[in-house]
Amino acid sequence: MRFKPFIIPVFIPNMGCPHRCVFCDQVSITGQKDGGLSPLQVRERISRFLDFKGGQRGPVEVAFYGGNFLGLPTSYRQPLLDEAQMFVEKGLVDSIRFSTRPDTVTHNTLKAIAPYSVQVVEVGAQSMDETVLSLSRRGHTAEDTGNAVKLLKGYGLRVGLQIMPGLPGDTTESILETGRRVAELRPDFVRIYPTVVVKDTVLEKWYHEGRFIPLSLTDAIKVTKRLYLLFKARGIWVIRMGLQVTESLLEPGAVIAGPFHPAFGHLVYSAVFFDFAARELEMQEMLSKRVTLKVHPHDMSKLKGFKNRNIMQLIQRFNLEELQVLPDPDVPQDMVTIVNNGYS
Ligand code: SF4
Repeated sequence: MRFKPFIIPVFIPNMGCPHRCVFCDQVSITGQKDGGLSPLQVRERISRFLDFKGGQRGPVEVAFYGGNFLGLPTSYRQPLLDEAQMFVEKGLVDSIRFSTRPDTVTHNTLKAIAPYSVQVVEVGAQSMDETVLSLSRRGHTAEDTGNAVKLLKGYGLRVGLQIMPGLPGDTTESILETGRRVAELRPDFVRIYPTVVVKDTVLEKWYHEGRFIPLSLTDAIKVTKRLYLLFKARGIWVIRMGLQVTESLLEPGAVIAGPFHPAFGHLVYSAVFFDFAARELEMQEMLSKRVTLKVHPHDMSKLKGFKNRNIMQLIQRFNLEELQVLPDPDVPQDMVTIVNNGYS
């Protein structure tokens, strides 16, 4: 059994960034208003999180998020790594991870971090479409992302890629093409963050001027579902769909527009499982009015859907009187089986 890592996030909001991408304001997203932490503050934060770890059995990872880690000046980056490494050497932390821009992944930066226990690097690809990258003022190309992944793998690092469907210039086709090209790079995992309009960003200005229209929640769920299935079919792990909900993002006025929902990932899984169940029901030559479906216990809430909506919609669509859902550990995850449609 694989245990989820216990992640100790250390935010470096917008630090090391060569400029501000149009959608980004890490202060709003992370809620950390006073810039990066000092090495001493990092030590205190790691210690505090370790105090709350309890009986968690997954590997412990210190994660530097919210900025461009490899773009930080060496004089700041190395002391941060020194602090995290100290906990690794004491056996309290297993490894270090961070997020960074593709164009800062170079032989030089990777050599500089080689002495530390970095195992995972998350690269902000955001899109593989040159027009979308340019309109979003990313300042790097899709080729930079491809080169970064190759380089990181060459150094034996595990690679995650982050993508943002619904950026300026995106269409359903460009989003799916980004998914296909990202999958070709064979990352170890991906995160999918549909674009939302966060306050104090260029995107907010464009939104108010009518120059940018974000995806609706319904469209974001639909396209993220297709991306999820695309990655799943290629054996690529999707570790997150939708922005992490922070207190600051929940503050009134923090999110101006777009497909922000505290349970976005669950909504996508619900849509995926609705399709799985509907396909099973459609495949029955004759369907009784009372049907029982089984899923792995971990997938129960995904099949039932947000507020049991899947059950209600399946009953309606297939004209059922009753639809029972049972957990069964023998059913593989991500699968729905019909055990009784009234004839057996
Ligand atoms: S998206 Fe990444 S590189 Fe762009 S401003 Fe935000 S943290 Fe910096």
